[in-house]
Amino acid sequence: MGAKRLKAIAVRGTHKLKMEDPGQFDALRKKTFAHVTDLDQIPYLKGLSLFGTCAGIVRNVSTGKAPIRNWSKVGGEAFPGYEKIGHDQILKYQLRKSGCGNCPINCGGIVAVKEGCTPPRDVSRNTRPSQPLVPCS
Ligand code: SF4
Repeated sequence: MGAKRLKAIAVRGTHKLKMEDPGQFDALRKKTFAHVTDLDQIPYLKGLSLFGTCAGIVRNVSTGKAPIRNWSKVGGEAFPGYEKIGHDQILKYQLRKSGCGNCPINCGGIVAVKEGCTPPRDVSRNTRPSQPLVPCS
């Protein structure tokens, strides 16, 4: 496939899928949901829920755990100003939490930088800003 430069295969079915064991699936779904919603038992998920995906930025960039330029650079060389977008800097602009569907973790957040920064704009988790965030100092 790679030799033919094939990027993807799309398949469209017309038959309904039949679940082999709906009862077992439902039991597993409930068990998994109970596990991931008990955030006190999973510190990583609790941190993700409290601080969002910006929680690990400073630590990951400063220790080389962020995949910047294929892990070839670390810290300020890799991401100048990274310390300005840690959760302690971002959450003060958070208007509300957000997340996907019914996910109990809700790792996203809607933030707005209203004044004192260049350029003022709204940034949501699913929006890729054309310019880096410039936190108010
Ligand atoms: S499903 Fe969405 S809201 Fe939940 S943890 Fe993943 S990215 Fe965050």
